Amino acid sequence: MLSDLEIAQQASMKPIVEIAREAGIEEDDIELYGKYKAKVSLEVLKKLKDRPLGKYIDVTAITPTPLGEGKTVTTIGLSMALNKIGKKSIVCIRQPSLGPVFGIKGGAAGGGYSQVVPMEDFNLHLTGDTHAVAAAHNLLAAFIDNHLLHGNELNIDPFTISWPRVVDISDRALRKIIVGLGGKTNGIPRESSFDIAVASEVMAVLALTTDIFDLRKRLGRIVVAYNERKEPVTAEDLRCAGAMTVLMRDAIKPNLLQTLENTPCFVHAGPFANIAHGNSSIVADQIALRLADYVVTESGFGADCGMEKFMNIKCRYSGLRPDCVVMVCSIRALKMHSGKYKVIPGKPLDPGILEEDIDALVKGSENLIKQIENARLFGVPVVVAINVFSTDTEREIETVKKIALDNGAFRACVSEVWAKGGEGGKELAEAVVEACDVPNNFNFLYPLDIPIKDKIEIIATKIYGADGVVYEPEAEKKIARYTELGWDKLPICMAKTHLSLSHDPKLKGRPRGFKLPIKDIRPSIGAGFLYPLCGEMRTMPGLPSRPAGMNVDIDSEGRVVGLF
Ligand code: ADP
Ligand code: MG
Repeated sequence: MLSDLEIAQQASMKPIVEIAREAGIEEDDIELYGKYKAKVSLEVLKKLKDRPLGKYIDVTAITPTPLGEGKTVTTIGLSMALNKIGKKSIVCIRQPSLGPVFGIKGGAAGGGYSQVVPMEDFNLHLTGDTHAVAAAHNLLAAFIDNHLLHGNELNIDPFTISWPRVVDISDRALRKIIVGLGGKTNGIPRESSFDIAVASEVMAVLALTTDIFDLRKRLGRIVVAYNERKEPVTAEDLRCAGAMTVLMRDAIKPNLLQTLENTPCFVHAGPFANIAHGNSSIVADQIALRLADYVVTESGFGADCGMEKFMNIKCRYSGLRPDCVVMVCSIRALKMHSGKYKVIPGKPLDPGILEEDIDALVKGSENLIKQIENARLFGVPVVVAINVFSTDTEREIETVKKIALDNGAFRACVSEVWAKGGEGGKELAEAVVEACDVPNNFNFLYPLDIPIKDKIEIIATKIYGADGVVYEPEAEKKIARYTELGWDKLPICMAKTHLSLSHDPKLKGRPRGFKLPIKDIRPSIGAGFLYPLCGEMRTMPGLPSRPAGMNVDIDSEGRVVGLF
């Protein structure tokens, strides 16, 4: 089997103008970034507003393991398979951060015969949206320090400043910094920090915004600090939001690429999936839904994280309604959820996990059962996609299918899109088409006008399976204050580990009998949510001892090698 990059480099790409035309976008509405990438103007939304909306499919997964479940592979493969069975489909995914590309994870353009191309561009700078996010973010940071130096008219309490700097590189040495050293002309010294660019609230704003005026408003609402009277200080107060919007005026337009089988693919925005909501942009989905019969998108991490936020946050702000959830699982990951096998990233796999082991599979499938239940809580049909690996046995596959169907899945089928492309996903595509035709009663899990604690408790007990929630004093204080400020009407974006349904990454399968601790709660008023912290969340990753970037180079012909 060829490497992902080799497969990608052999792809027969069509010029992006052609992909756009076939999707129904006029040449006038695209801006070319070379031959194979384009930005799509938001003007198309006006032109297409009378077209019916296509079916909306969210691809999610069981609780992630270091083995990779294959959400992106399935998302891309399903869209290609839908086209293969004669449906018009578009796929919408997130843009990856350079941090993981050169760190642990490597690329994120799918894999095998289910990829987005050109994968080098996808994984590297693409059209510079993340850099625009970083520039807008850092402009605001510079405005804050500049304001302090020039008299601090807004009476900002420097100890309350919560707006860091950002850069799109994993660089743990920047986690804690001191700015303003070197005497009076260099600013006022204070402790600060760096986050990775995709953790910026500006990225979450980009993903949730609906047009440039809405973007302007959201950026203005960003809270960066408090004044001496403990009132919030915003980007609007610092008169920075206009300039930030201008820096983002191209970034707001979705990027059009294609899959290995020439399916149109929107790649747009890449917010974190813990301190933010982990979903690609609303505007890309809105455009795609006016152009295609079926729009397939992916939400980050497991269904308890990305899918819950897709429903309760993204769909709430977009007004769009999902027609079907695809729940991805792999046999090996389910076996790992039994607790019998340990998988350490970077270390060879325990060979046992590759042997048939029905007992471990049945035990680990408790996680799948809970995640199916989670999707069903929103009233949407669930199709389970078993992402097949070459070591899976027939008996194991039949076991998972039966468990899925006995526990509320509408259909359960294998997906071989990694090995075969769209051809390997036809059965899945047929099942998804059927599921989308079932009338569903989509509902949010909580209304906005209930107290903050009630919303947190609904998510904790219904989605995570917790017995209750315990608040630390810091969280209690903030909840009281945010309620006074009127922020209690916002949706909740839980910052919880993705590695367990609970707050403890070591608890695999379906943890029971735990209470969810809330240590603190923070506001993302621009994005439009509050995020309770159920543990420490890393917003600046570090690099491993052998970063993936060590393998990246150019070959004798100047082509990129080593991205995967
Ligand atoms: P996720 O989106 O869930 O994080 P990805 O779709 O990015 O997962 O897949 C993670 C990794 O696993 C990728 O490198 C991908 O190529 C690989 N992978 C996924 N499915 C398969 C499969 N069926 N066989 C072999 N490798 C796979
Ligand atoms: Mg993915």
